[in-house]
Amino acid sequence: MKDGDHAGDKPETGKPAIHPTPHLDQLEDGPWPSFVTGIKKLRDEGSQNNQLVMNDLLGQLDMSYENRMGYWKGGAVSVFGYGGGVIPRFSEVADKFPESKEFHTLRVMPPPGFHYTTDLLRNMADIWEEHGSGLIAFHGQSGDIMFQGCTTENTQKAFDALNKIGFDLGGAGPALRTSMSCVGAARCEQSCFDEQRALRGVINNLLDEMHRPALPYKFKFKFSGCANDCVNAIHRSDMAVIGTWRDDIKINQEKVKEHVAEKGRKYTIDTVVSMCPTRAISLNDDDTIEIDNKSCVRCMHCINVMTKALSPGDDKGVSILVGGKRSLKVGDLMGIMVIPFMKLETDEDFETLETLAEDMVEFFADNALEHERIGETIDRIGLPAFLEAMEIDVDPNMVAHPTTSSYVRTDDFDEEAAKWFERKAQEAGLQISAE
Ligand code: SF4
Repeated sequence: MKDGDHAGDKPETGKPAIHPTPHLDQLEDGPWPSFVTGIKKLRDEGSQNNQLVMNDLLGQLDMSYENRMGYWKGGAVSVFGYGGGVIPRFSEVADKFPESKEFHTLRVMPPPGFHYTTDLLRNMADIWEEHGSGLIAFHGQSGDIMFQGCTTENTQKAFDALNKIGFDLGGAGPALRTSMSCVGAARCEQSCFDEQRALRGVINNLLDEMHRPALPYKFKFKFSGCANDCVNAIHRSDMAVIGTWRDDIKINQEKVKEHVAEKGRKYTIDTVVSMCPTRAISLNDDDTIEIDNKSCVRCMHCINVMTKALSPGDDKGVSILVGGKRSLKVGDLMGIMVIPFMKLETDEDFETLETLAEDMVEFFADNALEHERIGETIDRIGLPAFLEAMEIDVDPNMVAHPTTSSYVRTDDFDEEAAKWFERKAQEAGLQISAE
């Protein structure tokens, strides 16, 4: 097909002809919902103006698939007082598809935990129908609500309207990015801390870094209530705050027996006992279970399978990991454990978290190279230097693979171990005297 074919037939009714989309049509074939179907729906049922925009958008997209070329170019579009938050998209083939020649995206921060009322969603849809294309994506990889398809002229108007109903732009470019937290304590019984409060506290405290991009590259926080990590914090965020507990898993032996009676011993052994990564669980002859809590690594597997019988302990808090990211210069990285456990309950605890987050971003701003994520900075300078700069004490729980870790060296290991034992003894002493 030549490019000209995308112009469609001459209109007979005054309405422009629908652009043929043979390539995009194929994307609707599979078993999964397709974005193409959604855009076609807007083309056929949206407001009069948006029908035109979507028709040209589909025409351009199909041409992209045909020619294997992306036809969007960037530019500078923003709203008053903000340096980021809008992704400008100008079409390079505006002469063929004039209605979608400006198709900017507004990145808007979602409420923590993605809690919306239907009224709010309707309001958002109305605003975008009026000022944008009607196309909204819930949610982008960083959690943003993506309001896609706005003209330069309407960008400020759309932002003002969204701002009026309580929403703010998220991050884009070399800046603190929009954050996300799992649905959390409001709906999930495994939640180990107040994710919503942690997210709002950390982000509000650093909002300047989001709205006025000044960092070497992006920085993301994510908050998951437990190790199921429903927002992929460990591998998609520079600083992951993940809920955990440090006392024993709670066991309801009656429910364990009911589970075994219903599913059978073999099933329980196959799906729970032998799936525990540290072999911490045993099933007794009387169909009760025992857990060696010292060996448990709080992976959540057994709790996920036996939701009624098992639950996280009472002494809850968070683990903090730094440096997770998708592939860049040094490949994909999972977060490195830097704080194995901290309580997150009192105002003071939340302030400590916010200060730590602030220090982390400051360290990143001062030490990262251009276009380098903090995981890569740590990889470049070494974990000991990072820990020293952040004034974080070395802890054996940070070491995943002792023989390959760059900071467990035989010459200073004894010294670090002695320091750790001394700290633990002090903590134990403090706890005893506090009681
Ligand atoms: Fe084993 Fe994970 Fe259950 Fe701990 S939480 S006992 S490591 S399966």
